[in-house]
Amino acid sequence: MVIQKIPHVALLASPGLGHLIPILELAKCLATQHGLIVTIIAVTNETHQIKDELLSSASSSCPDHIYTIILPIDKLIFSGNETILARLSIMMRTALPSLHSLIHNMKRKPIALIVDQFGVVAFDKIAQDFNMFKYVFIASNARFLSYALYFPYVDYNNRGDYVRIPGCEPIPCEELNNLSSSPDAQNYQEFIQIAHLIESVDGILVNTWEDIEVKTLLAFRDEKALKLIVKASVYAIGPVIRSNLMETGGVKSKLIKWLDDQPNESVVYVSFGSGGTLSTQQTIELALGLELSKQRFIWVVRPPIDDNNAACLFESVGGTHELNNYLPDGFLDRTRDLGFIVPMWAPQSEILSHPSIGVFVSHCGWNSSLESIINGVPIIAWPLYAEQGMNATILVKNLGIAIRSDVNPKKELVRRDEIASMVRRVMMDKEGIGIKARVNGLKASANIALREGGSSYNALSQVVKKLLDDINDQTQN
Ligand code: UDP
Repeated sequence: MVIQKIPHVALLASPGLGHLIPILELAKCLATQHGLIVTIIAVTNETHQIKDELLSSASSSCPDHIYTIILPIDKLIFSGNETILARLSIMMRTALPSLHSLIHNMKRKPIALIVDQFGVVAFDKIAQDFNMFKYVFIASNARFLSYALYFPYVDYNNRGDYVRIPGCEPIPCEELNNLSSSPDAQNYQEFIQIAHLIESVDGILVNTWEDIEVKTLLAFRDEKALKLIVKASVYAIGPVIRSNLMETGGVKSKLIKWLDDQPNESVVYVSFGSGGTLSTQQTIELALGLELSKQRFIWVVRPPIDDNNAACLFESVGGTHELNNYLPDGFLDRTRDLGFIVPMWAPQSEILSHPSIGVFVSHCGWNSSLESIINGVPIIAWPLYAEQGMNATILVKNLGIAIRSDVNPKKELVRRDEIASMVRRVMMDKEGIGIKARVNGLKASANIALREGGSSYNALSQVVKKLLDDINDQTQN
């Protein structure tokens, strides 16, 4: 056994920008704040500009080695009906042979493998063959983790309206989208496998912090609650989010210059993450709702897709689109002075950190939620898929920093007058003042957690210390 004075760790990101972005940020923290040697391995089903830009910005700002595994399309066998979870699991299993030979050929092997929640399939073969410590980084919150781990113990047919996890707040089943699964569904075995693989790791890192999920985090430390299921420690190390490129010397785009000209907190920012798409009718209602609100807005628009809320998740982003084909007649002309339409993809961290932004209409992906909090921006929650419904409940009910529609946007149309009314409630009513104060309180608490000596900073230091202790134990035995 070669003694490694400075540990070398590998981080593995599954396909999807919502997975790659937090893995890159964690890699930067481990390298710059904790002095580790870091290799990033990104699994992807295609090459595209945004991913390449992200990877090259990571390489210029720290990690020592960056590799991309492009999945062999001919070996990716999909039936076409898979859920997102099943697709990701298939992709990650397909990547294993390339991952194995990549690590095999490294002169200095990583001592630990840190994967996101879909990369756990790499533990059986890769981590074992190369004798690596196994860590999982949940790029979501502790509530999602509690559900993922408790999943094998849920009696699907007798669970009622809530999933009740020991020590945690009940999770409404209607928030689960297709994270819920009957034992005969394709998702079921994938979930069970992920849960069992997470149970056997050396440590679990979660993109949350102590103050915002007190009860759930306590449940992971309670022998009568979730500690019964998972012995590994859970480290709340967040919020791990993208830094604002403008602050680090980026060039101002036309969009940011436009924002500079708007009054403080006057602009509604609308985006459904890296993959979210709306139906034709919903796209029209949203356009007319924004117009009706008479507020300024930036809208990251995608062509509508009628039967899939996550159509862009694994497909290319970018390109040009004929907006008049699907936006209401005359909308672009009527809103020319108030609105800024961005097709497909926008520089979100720059937008959210701009003082002109007043509210974020968001699909509640966890990265987007954290980016909103760290910038003190209230949210209008519009969950679409994956664990976004659960996230919306945390934002609306637990933290009081978001409002949401009375209808479930997955099942029903959110009407233009309700959209306009939600925007006005946050931007103009007294209700918005309370929400803004709470989100600013959370922003302060996040910054305290991240500072040297704060709970998240200390948690990540503990992970590094444990790694060093484990390496020492291993070399002595
Ligand atoms: N993002 C962005 N521009 C866009 C859409 C998304 O920069 O137009 C970034 C966003 O800032 C976040 C990530 O992509 O860091 C999306 O992650 P999230 O967890 O919010 O949602 P997902 O895309 O995984 O559903």
